[in-house]
Amino acid sequence: MTPVLAVRHASKVFPGGVRALDDVSLTVDPGELLAIVGPSGSGKSTLLHLMGTLDRPSSGTVDIDGLAVSSLPDRRLSALRARRIGLVFQQFHLAEGLTAVENVATGLLYAGVPRRHRRELATVALERVGLGQRLTHRPQQLSGGERQRVAIARALVNEPAIVLADEPTGALDTTTGRTVLALLMELNHAGTTIAVITHDREIAAALPRQVELRDGRIRADTRSLQGVLP
Ligand code: ADP
Ligand code: MG
Repeated sequence: MTPVLAVRHASKVFPGGVRALDDVSLTVDPGELLAIVGPSGSGKSTLLHLMGTLDRPSSGTVDIDGLAVSSLPDRRLSALRARRIGLVFQQFHLAEGLTAVENVATGLLYAGVPRRHRRELATVALERVGLGQRLTHRPQQLSGGERQRVAIARALVNEPAIVLADEPTGALDTTTGRTVLALLMELNHAGTTIAVITHDREIAAALPRQVELRDGRIRADTRSLQGVLP
């Protein structure tokens, strides 16, 4: 089985000399749901950026679906990102002037899907996250949890190889955060490969695999038989 994602001996040194990642190797198989957990400054976001092809390692390699992305030119990299990676951020990153459907449809802009079809697919994705009744709402008319669900629908709409979520519950209250986490678990049960980046050990413990980062290194990679919601 080709892994969805393989990071091999990746290091990242920022200008100024900060070594944010130090020889990190990580493989994610199709259908996995994992947490990348660690304290603030441990390198989680840096790792997410490498996994999401938003940045390149200083040394080491990243493969997506068996393709070595580190050596691709920028244009091919953005095309691959548009088609194969779904990104979810703590602060949702929705366009305020666009409706929920329009926001989700932007997830298909660079995937070569015709305009009318984009709208249909966006509607289906919003129905999947339980927002079928909020299609024409704008972000300011939605609650935090609903905004994050729009962002998740946008990440899912082009059926990416992997969804990468950086602190997806970080801007939400505990109860809403749990419903968002439950949604990610439900989508995983339906087959989506998901990596959740979090500093929250309770959230990490709820997922079937925990990769622990500290000072830019992987300190542990643990699998439990079954994740349990806290
Ligand atoms: P986390 O997401 O776990 O809080 P980060 O990956 O954001 O950690 O950061 C890891 C380390 O790299 C920190 O010391 C941070 O200050 C540093 N860092 C992150 N991004 C940059 C950057 N663009 N330039 C310089 N240093 C950075
Ligand atoms: Mg971070």
